[in-house]
Amino acid sequence: MTRINVMKPWLGAAEVQALTEVIESGWVAQGPRVARFEAVFAEAMQAGHAVATSNCTTALHLALVVVGVERGDEVIVPSFSFIATANAPTYVGARPVFADVDRTTGNLTAATVAAAITSRTRAVIVVDQGGVPVDLDSIRSLCDPLHIPVIEDAACGAGSTYRGRPVGAGADIAAWSFHPRKLLTTGEGGMLTTSRADWAARARRLREHSMSVSANDRQASVLAPPEVYGEIGFNYRMTDLQAAIGIVQLGRLASIIERRRALALRYTRALSEVPGLRPVTDPEWGTSNFQSYWVEVGPEFGTDRDGAMKALARADISARRGIMAAHRQPAYRKDANPPLPVTDHLTDHTLILPLYHDLAESDQDRVIAALLSAAELQTEGAA
Ligand SMILES: *Cc1c(COP(=O)(O)O)cnc(C)c1O
Repeated sequence: MTRINVMKPWLGAAEVQALTEVIESGWVAQGPRVARFEAVFAEAMQAGHAVATSNCTTALHLALVVVGVERGDEVIVPSFSFIATANAPTYVGARPVFADVDRTTGNLTAATVAAAITSRTRAVIVVDQGGVPVDLDSIRSLCDPLHIPVIEDAACGAGSTYRGRPVGAGADIAAWSFHPRKLLTTGEGGMLTTSRADWAARARRLREHSMSVSANDRQASVLAPPEVYGEIGFNYRMTDLQAAIGIVQLGRLASIIERRRALALRYTRALSEVPGLRPVTDPEWGTSNFQSYWVEVGPEFGTDRDGAMKALARADISARRGIMAAHRQPAYRKDANPPLPVTDHLTDHTLILPLYHDLAESDQDRVIAALLSAAELQTEGAA
């Protein structure tokens, strides 16, 4: 019996070839391949501009800088997210203010955001959690009249759609991740997309020490023009090694989505009628890439979430506790946080099942059988 992991990136010979070409070219830092990756990514996501970064966390940091969030401001974020969503506002001296999420989607809603708005709110970061598209329009209807920019943390969202377009396409600014836990990977890597040319230009400078002349342009000319550093920037660059892999990965996105959605449907068919289990589904406004296939484990199931996880572990299946709650971590527990009952509930009662491109149906059946046996074992034990 072999171990089944929760996620496995889909990498192959094409990535090896692309990497070889970069190494043979002698240009490995940010250069022509990063520019090419930005162009094809912007096109695929129907975004006006794309700026590659070292990861999604740095893309979120740059997004907050360019929209103008400053020290003392408040940024509304879901606690129900990977902790980077909450950390990013602190990098500009702002305070993350946690809002609760909807139980079905795991995402912020206009109502939960409205409850967290104060006179100090300077931005909202919405997340397409686990790939489930957030209902962006309803949140923008609330925030646009108040001139509160909405940043989309689309770290998990590549290949998900919202009202017929890629997620992020309707946002003024979005941040993406290419960590191996996401659908597309470059090892580490990120992207900022935006509809605004001025924001893109500033983010492009900020990620490269705020140099007025990019390293790429400087290298390309024999007589390098003198550069000017207009403000304090960062080194948040992606390398051409990463971008070369990213270009190949992006070409795989349609197949990845097709396969993931077929496997997700198999899980849903097997699990949705089981008493006490509620699998994540597409919301009415879009489609999920099922970056995380999670199930809520209710009281009618024979065992609780942790019992289900233990049964899976006994079968050498690596499931994961559902999405974390940042407000319960030591880094934020000391803060005065509002009650977040839905976040607490989902964090305690959800389980993420293995799902990746080359997960075999027979292995998926093993996961399903182990999960169902968890309930039966417990019921028999209790009888
Ligand atoms: C993974 C993730 C991030 C962080 O992405 P990195 O590329 O690892 O920095 C941020 N937000 C969400 C919602 C994520 O899932």
